[in-house]
Amino acid sequence: MPTHAKLRVFSLGEVEVPVGIFINNEWVEASSSETFSTTNPATGEKSLDFAHASKEDVDKAVKAARKAFKTTWGNNIQATKRAAVLFKLADLMERDTERLAALESITTGKGIRMVRTTELADSIACLRYYAGLADKLHGQTITSFGKEKFVYTVHQPIGVCGQIIPWNDPIMMWAWKVAPALAAGCTLVLKPSELTPLTALLMCDLAKEAGIPAGVLNTLPGFGSTTGDAIARHMNIDKVAFTGSVVTGRRISIAAAESNLKKVNLELGGKSPILVFDSADVEEAANWTALAIWFNSGQYCCAGSRVYIQEGVYEKFITALKQRAEACAIGQPHDEKTSFGPLICETQRDKVLNYIVSGKEAGARVVTGGEKWPQSNGGFWIEPTILADTTPDMRVVKEEIFGPVIVAAPFSTEEQAVELANDTTYGLAAAVFTNDTRQVARVTSALDAGTVWCNQYAFVHPSVPFGGFKQSGTGPELGTYGMEAYMQVKAVHQNL
Ligand code: NAD
Repeated sequence: MPTHAKLRVFSLGEVEVPVGIFINNEWVEASSSETFSTTNPATGEKSLDFAHASKEDVDKAVKAARKAFKTTWGNNIQATKRAAVLFKLADLMERDTERLAALESITTGKGIRMVRTTELADSIACLRYYAGLADKLHGQTITSFGKEKFVYTVHQPIGVCGQIIPWNDPIMMWAWKVAPALAAGCTLVLKPSELTPLTALLMCDLAKEAGIPAGVLNTLPGFGSTTGDAIARHMNIDKVAFTGSVVTGRRISIAAAESNLKKVNLELGGKSPILVFDSADVEEAANWTALAIWFNSGQYCCAGSRVYIQEGVYEKFITALKQRAEACAIGQPHDEKTSFGPLICETQRDKVLNYIVSGKEAGARVVTGGEKWPQSNGGFWIEPTILADTTPDMRVVKEEIFGPVIVAAPFSTEEQAVELANDTTYGLAAAVFTNDTRQVARVTSALDAGTVWCNQYAFVHPSVPFGGFKQSGTGPELGTYGMEAYMQVKAVHQNL
């Protein structure tokens, strides 16, 4: 199949986009003629056909990545030179902002302004952060052995890494994975989600233009159970870094263990709680909670999808949140005003609708929403939805819905609030709304979550670690931790 195709994109008109496999800085023919297609979430129409990378293609990509690791990247190039490539890539993304934002928006259904100002801007910031960090992580000198000897440690890049990413923030997930790994000196075989492969493929041409040597960044579209599994099981990949669901994370861990026991990093799902205490500013808490659940139509890992409200302000808060739900700027992705787009695909839309039905059947009160957006036409919108008076045993409370549905329940004491918040197998994020600073200290320390926001929500920054407790993951991304995850430490003993 051809490696490029034409796509009609909003005001850009017809644009040529990559749909093939990128190995060794070239668009190459896939080893099989198998393809898969993507769907436009706002229309329900077929969008593009992509090459489906096979096990053989994964093997070719790994060989290219290994060669680059041994010759042009890793320890063969100064960290400042790796940094220069990342800085250039960030500049190129900035230069191409309008094109990238339009393509990301048509791929995911997100409002174009949201893509430009949040996801794309954050991705560029992530590349610049790791470009700056590339030459700043050093080892130690250990001198506690008297005159006998000293020991020094060096950080070395792990080697060839497989990276498998989800569909919900394709460009940001790409940046969170690729930037720290390249800064550390690893070479990559990356598989984007089969629902949104375009973004990662677009980045290949930009990376080449930024001067990345051949074989350093290889990108293979394909399904999880085939291309993804081949990456997770490959005997010559040293580490696999994954973002996605708990179910897939478990499969990848097993595949890694059954093959060469490669290192594994997992960033998984969430069911993040928000606690609103009587002393909180209810209007402000409702503003943040609306952002927490309806940003990206609830399709992000740390969405605040459970809200527990102290009895004194329960109904007042629910009324305030309902007003925010009904004021959401639902609309088409190309519309600058849109902040609330469709869900990614029909399956996801139907899964979310089924959750709403299960909540209603279990006795939850539908405060607002609960249906398809009436102007959806063929697209996959669901209205911003609040299910109130929920109980801990309901599926809508226990399971990650990954859609625009928040469940709400009252609590009476601080102890009860913490117990409800921690009553989950997840531990990605949480938030506390209160005006009592001592309560902030007590509650943030008691919550089982990798990120806790106080009187705000959803702030992430490349310099701040982000990762899950419990079944939400195995270790943070971002910050210095994010780059250390792509390095291994060697201790060198020097006899005197
Ligand atoms: P998913 O697990 O279905 O798929 C993620 C990726 O894994 C895709 O590229 C898919 O093709 C691949 N995959 C599927 N089966 C595989 C297998 N057997 N072997 C190897 N790869 C396989 O997840 P999704 O639906 O794309 O994304 C949504 C999930 O991602 C949610 O649970 C969300 O919370 C989570 N997520 C977590 C974070 C985080 O930072 N913690 C960020 C974004 C999304």
